[in-house]
Amino acid sequence: MQEASKKEAQRIAIGMIAGLALGLILYFTGLGHVVDYMKPIGDIFISLLKMVIIPLVFSSIFMAMYHLGTPESLGKMGVKAVIYYFMTTAVAVLVGIIFVNLINPGVGADLGTAGLHGLNEGMQAKVSQNSGGWFALYNAVKEVILNAVPKNPVQAMAEGQILQVIVFSILFGMVALYLPKESEPVVKVINSLEKMSLFLTHGIMKFAPVGIFVLMTGVLAKSGFSAIVSLSKYMLTVILGLGCHGILLLFIGSWKSKKSPMFILRGIGPALITAFSTASSAATLPITMANVEENLGVRKDTAKFVLPLGATINMDGTALYESVAAIFIAQAYGIHLGINQQLIIFLTASLAAIGAAAIPGAGLITMSIVLSAVGLPIEGIGLILAVDRVLDMFRTTVNVFGDSVGTLVVDSMLDDSDLKDDVEAVATT
Ligand code: ASP
Repeated sequence: MQEASKKEAQRIAIGMIAGLALGLILYFTGLGHVVDYMKPIGDIFISLLKMVIIPLVFSSIFMAMYHLGTPESLGKMGVKAVIYYFMTTAVAVLVGIIFVNLINPGVGADLGTAGLHGLNEGMQAKVSQNSGGWFALYNAVKEVILNAVPKNPVQAMAEGQILQVIVFSILFGMVALYLPKESEPVVKVINSLEKMSLFLTHGIMKFAPVGIFVLMTGVLAKSGFSAIVSLSKYMLTVILGLGCHGILLLFIGSWKSKKSPMFILRGIGPALITAFSTASSAATLPITMANVEENLGVRKDTAKFVLPLGATINMDGTALYESVAAIFIAQAYGIHLGINQQLIIFLTASLAAIGAAAIPGAGLITMSIVLSAVGLPIEGIGLILAVDRVLDMFRTTVNVFGDSVGTLVVDSMLDDSDLKDDVEAVATT
């Protein structure tokens, strides 16, 4: 890791710790409202990151596609990435299901659901019949696939639909390969766009310590500590599960890439802290790309393609959280879930995570897919709402960590012959 990156990581860490400390002070002195005056700074930081996502993702994927030389090379990388991402998502859900069944955070939880016993019997019947189950699963798969294909690339970019932008960039990059002469001017422009977007990302990162400081202050100064206490067992289950999955990922990443765990953690430290404070994998993406390319030694073409894909479809933290939350809600309502229902939760939680947008609170929205698939009441979401933001910070960190480790692993599985290194020349001549 270069000296400059090290200093940058230190400044970001200081921003986070100072923000947490100030947030606590403001909360306990009853001055939480002061945060309202600081909030615009945090908002500007997030907007700046979002501003650079689309030009960066479009140009990076286009250039990666162009560099790869053939659709087959992209295919090799893409298949490896998708298989790895799906497998780790499935493992994450499994870890969540194991932890929630071991800890049983919802059993006997006093969340105002005790008076609903008559109602609960009706719900239990609905759950036992598996109402909605497999059909809901089919619908979820269909939605994910349909949502990936853009009707209008400009609209996809304007709306920040990253998966659609990825699909368009791949197709456009592929066309450039087939029409090398005609595409030459466009390739040059997009190559410049990529360089400029990266440069801009570095500029925005200089502002990160201040942005993160403000965002962290806001989280603690305005947090509802009472909700945290009554939902502490549930939160603990999610956080323990996330920690366990994170360690597993670190082990896999270190083993496959032959790099030390400390090297990996240090290298992507700034991205992890940004993920924690923004609760958005998409907003963090520019920083994740810079960290993985520059600090982890991943080959550029792998990082450019595999990371944006991961940020959109790979959300281990969200997947784990969805399974814990759904089973917690069932427990809180006193509803028993059999193996069949837990299997449906396993599948739908994986899909809900794949389909969730990389923005704050997206996992909470796609929870409805999981709940309705097993016939649990959607209102159950209300039980966990109060602490969702805090858990979002933890799960987004694991999401970003999963994407980064995934890129490292996929890169280590590719031969040099799969990637062309002399391409800079092609694009810039
Ligand atoms: N905030 C998460 C992310 O951006 C998604 C979620 O809500 O789980 O990765």
